[in-house]
Amino acid sequence: MRLTTNQERVLATLQQSGTPLSAYKILDSLKGEGLNAPTQIYRALGHLAKQGLVHRLESLNAYVKCAPPTSCKGSVRAFAICDSCGRVDEFVVPSLNKYLGSWLKQNVFSLGSSIIELRGECAICCKLERPSKGSVEK
Ligand SMILES: [Zn+2]
Ligand SMILES: [Zn+2]
Repeated sequence: MRLTTNQERVLATLQQSGTPLSAYKILDSLKGEGLNAPTQIYRALGHLAKQGLVHRLESLNAYVKCAPPTSCKGSVRAFAICDSCGRVDEFVVPSLNKYLGSWLKQNVFSLGSSIIELRGECAICCKLERPSKGSVEK
């Protein structure tokens, strides 16, 4: 699998960010490096998404780098999105995959792509806002 320079730059930008980025945010950080048009970014993102290297999060209209690249291929991807800090954790639930797999077979539905987006607060943000009872009242 070979990537063009533009695709590598876009991928590196997403990797460095650690949080989801919109196509325009990616364009902003790559301006001056030969990438000036949104279409260049969209084309690179489209290719990277096809390869499974990045995923598009519909609810945020943003992209994240797949982590890790090999584990989520062909499975239902789930993303826990923290609304407070923007952190996104990608994970795969094997039992969910198994369940959905048999449903798809029974109902003869050909799955194109599937992404489950869970919105809420990450462990770090929960702890900051809701300290345990013992530490609050003393
Ligand atoms: Zn992935
Ligand atoms: Zn958070």
